[in-house]
Amino acid sequence: MRKLAAGNWKMNGTAAALSEVAALCTAHPAPACDMLLCPPATLVAQMAAAAKGTALQVGGQDCHAKASGAHTGDISALMLQDAGATAVIVGHSERRTDHAETDAQVLAKAEAAQAAGLVAIVCIGETEAERDAGRTLDVIGTQLAGSVPAASTAATLVVAYEPVWAIGTGRTPTIAEIADVHAFLRARLTAKIGAEAAGVRLLYGGSVKPSNAAEIFAVPHVDGALVGGASLKAADFGGIVAALSAA
Ligand code: PEP
Repeated sequence: MRKLAAGNWKMNGTAAALSEVAALCTAHPAPACDMLLCPPATLVAQMAAAAKGTALQVGGQDCHAKASGAHTGDISALMLQDAGATAVIVGHSERRTDHAETDAQVLAKAEAAQAAGLVAIVCIGETEAERDAGRTLDVIGTQLAGSVPAASTAATLVVAYEPVWAIGTGRTPTIAEIADVHAFLRARLTAKIGAEAAGVRLLYGGSVKPSNAAEIFAVPHVDGALVGGASLKAADFGGIVAALSAA
C-alpha cells in the first residue's frame, strides 16, 4: 500500500502561505508516499492550481452531507471536488467538539464525499478523560462503527486515529499504545468492510513532528500521519514526508 502524509492547515493561511506549497513540491518532487495538504476552503482552488503537475494533492477540511441547497456558509463535497480537491477530512475532533458533530453526521458527510469522488478521511479519537477511564478502545470502536460508510473501499476511505489530548499539545501516546489502537482498528475495520480493510490507510495524528515521525511510522498498521501544526511549514511537513518515504 502507498502510505499517506496528510496535512491539515485548519483555520490558518492566506494566499501568501502558498509559497510553502512551492517549497514543499520543489523539495519533494517524487516522494515514495502520497502527499496531501488540506488548506482552508478559501485556498483549495489556488492550492490545487499551484500543485498541478506536482506530487501534492489537495483536500478539504469538512463538507456538508448534501450536494447543494439552502445551507448558508457550508460547502459540499462536489464543490470541493470541482475546486480541485481529491479528499476531504470529516469528523475531525475540533468539528465534533466545536460543532457538536455526531457519528451519524460524520457518516453522512463521509458518504457524500465518496459519492462525489473524494477520499473520505474519517477522524476518530478519545478524550483524555476517556483514556484515563480505560475507555479508549470502546470509544474509538463506537466512532468507527458509526462514522465509516459500510460501502467503503481502500480507494475511498482513510481512517485517522487522533487522540484528542494529543492534538496540538506536544504529547503523544506511547508507541505500544499506538500499536494497540491501530491493530484494533484494522481488526474492527475488517469486520465492517471485509478484505478491503487491508488496503485502507490508517493514519496516526496528534503532535507528529519530523523528530518523532520515524518511530511512529515504524509501528505496524500505521500507514501515515494526519499532521496539524507541523504541516504549515514546508520544512517540517517535508521532514515528515521524508520519514514516511523511508519507512
Ligand atoms: C490535527 O489536528 O489533526 C493534528 C494532528 O494536529 P497537531 O499535529 O498539531 O497535533
